[in-house]
Amino acid sequence: MTNQSPSFDESPLMREITELAQRRKAVAQAEFPRPSKTRVFTVANQKGGVGKTTTTVNLAAALAKTGAKVLVIDLDPQGNASTAVGADHRAEVPSVYDILIRDVEMQDVVQKSPEFEGLYCAPATIHLAGAEIELVPLVARELRLRENLDRYLEYAATTEEQPYDYVFIDCPPSLGLLTINAFVAAREVLIPIQCEYYALEGLSQLLSNIGLIAKHLNPRLAVSTILLTMYDGRTRLAAQVAEDVRNHFPDETLTAVIPRSVRISEAPSYGQTVISYDPQSTGSLSYLEAASEIARKGAQVHG
Ligand code: ATP
Ligand code: MG
Repeated sequence: MTNQSPSFDESPLMREITELAQRRKAVAQAEFPRPSKTRVFTVANQKGGVGKTTTTVNLAAALAKTGAKVLVIDLDPQGNASTAVGADHRAEVPSVYDILIRDVEMQDVVQKSPEFEGLYCAPATIHLAGAEIELVPLVARELRLRENLDRYLEYAATTEEQPYDYVFIDCPPSLGLLTINAFVAAREVLIPIQCEYYALEGLSQLLSNIGLIAKHLNPRLAVSTILLTMYDGRTRLAAQVAEDVRNHFPDETLTAVIPRSVRISEAPSYGQTVISYDPQSTGSLSYLEAASEIARKGAQVHG
């Protein structure tokens, strides 16, 4: 008989298991250097459903799990980021709405997430839906989040044991005053890109909007990070999109890629991130890999 099947060691299943084991080992040994000063990210893409919220909460959780102090600011009235980190965001709870519209200080709004030591959240409530319009007549309407956040970071640095290492602001899928407030408050923009056919469509508009904000309102703003999400390794299309993005943004695009994974999408219904919901899953592993890259890149730039 010459018709031999490949030995078990060479089977695709075995290869995948071996590769996963290697990645787990690498992440367990990976460095997550803390930045010398707080890094503030806005997670933005005006396309809906590309993984902004999922990326915000899982990167935040991955960094908190590995020793950083991290704040998630939920700027989307849907409140999905608040849900995912287990923050109370019922209508009566002090929220980002009160920060933007009523000048409530952030320390009176921020909650400690039950997910990890070091993870905090300024939640969004349903009231935030009205903020887009209520902001219009207010003084310095584009600067309200930045001024409040700067005061809070200073307060935390002087009164709490550890200053914040990272802030991630989750944006709604539109470019209104809420998203503009996020761009003005941040220094870095993180763009999640879904590996699908129309992925790059709308990106030039997003980049030109970011350019306008940098010019008029926040000269420090730059796109520092691009993360490929919902990657389906079985399709040529995903590989093609990933290659296109890497060609356009060789320095910004992270090597780590987030796979399409059921565990990632079911974690929020348990009020959890995938990092705590299923720490052994490939989704969790991928977000930890991305977080380590972000931390190491930051140490080069800022350290
Ligand atoms: P919106 O524009 O509405 O704010 P978004 O950009 O924040 O959306 P998410 O809410 O993070 O996108 O993700 C959209 C949907 O896709 C959610 O149901 C989420 O659970 C799911 N999802 C996100 N990332 C993945 C993934 N890697 N694998 C599988 N499902 C995912
Ligand atoms: Mg979202």
